[in-house]
Amino acid sequence: MARVAVVTGGTRGIGEAISVALKNAGYKVAANYAGNEERAKGFTQRTGIAAYKWDVASFEECVAGIKKVEAELGPVDVIVNNAGITRDATMRKMNRQNWDEVMDTNLGGCFNMCKAAWEGMLARGFGRIVNIGSINGQAGQYGQVNYAAAKSGIHGFTKALSQEGASKGITVTAIAPGYIDTDMVAAVPPEVLAKIVAKIPVGRLGKAEEIARGVLFLVADEGGFITGSTMSINGGQHMY
Ligand code: NDP
Repeated sequence: MARVAVVTGGTRGIGEAISVALKNAGYKVAANYAGNEERAKGFTQRTGIAAYKWDVASFEECVAGIKKVEAELGPVDVIVNNAGITRDATMRKMNRQNWDEVMDTNLGGCFNMCKAAWEGMLARGFGRIVNIGSINGQAGQYGQVNYAAAKSGIHGFTKALSQEGASKGITVTAIAPGYIDTDMVAAVPPEVLAKIVAKIPVGRLGKAEEIARGVLFLVADEGGFITGSTMSINGGQHMY
């Protein structure tokens, strides 16, 4: 039986590449998104993967979302917590809303999704959870106290939850991407981006498919001994 995977923020960017890689590897995939209908529609037309709209920052919506996916595709075996946003500003300019939105989506979303699927994974004795962190959660970044704190939190969350799942067949891991060529990075001013690329030893931005490759490795049935770990995929920019 094909395993069922949910990818949050799975309709564009890194998430799209993850959804497609999982589908090509034989998983039944549900790609979640927040509200960009046009991109979600184009994604489903291109890939044949069903898109499900809910806000990962809402616990109730995550519970309902998992329920819907389970009714349509079957029990959820794999969760990739990939949905993420930025609300960059220096401390002087950042407001409380910028902080809350990023914490609620990037870190709260991980809790909501894991909590919604956890009992089922425990009952079936199998689960694979991969949380997408960031190089900026490992190293920090100017103008990103909210984002860096949320992503850093993901790494602590991963280590803690992995201890609860370890003896139950559930692995919890993280990937910390470096700078990847997606809409999120396209929003960085070109002069700032040029300085960032100059610091990447591989000499270029990463590709979404290069993150998806790591996800496939971590979620494999054979990956039962890999838990609590973070895989850094960053072109050598930060050795952690
Ligand atoms: P994009 O901005 O390209 O795509 C973000 C995706 O997340 C979209 O599908 C979006 O849905 C979805 N999303 C955003 N908020 C929510 C929400 N509240 N509920 C459900 N879905 C939501 O991002 P990237 O592909 O660049 O990034 C993916 C992940 O990788 C993020 O967690 C990001 O922080 C992380 N990352 C990215 C790096 C990069 O260089 N790009 C580097 C390090 C980490 P919709 O289309 O509906 O808006």
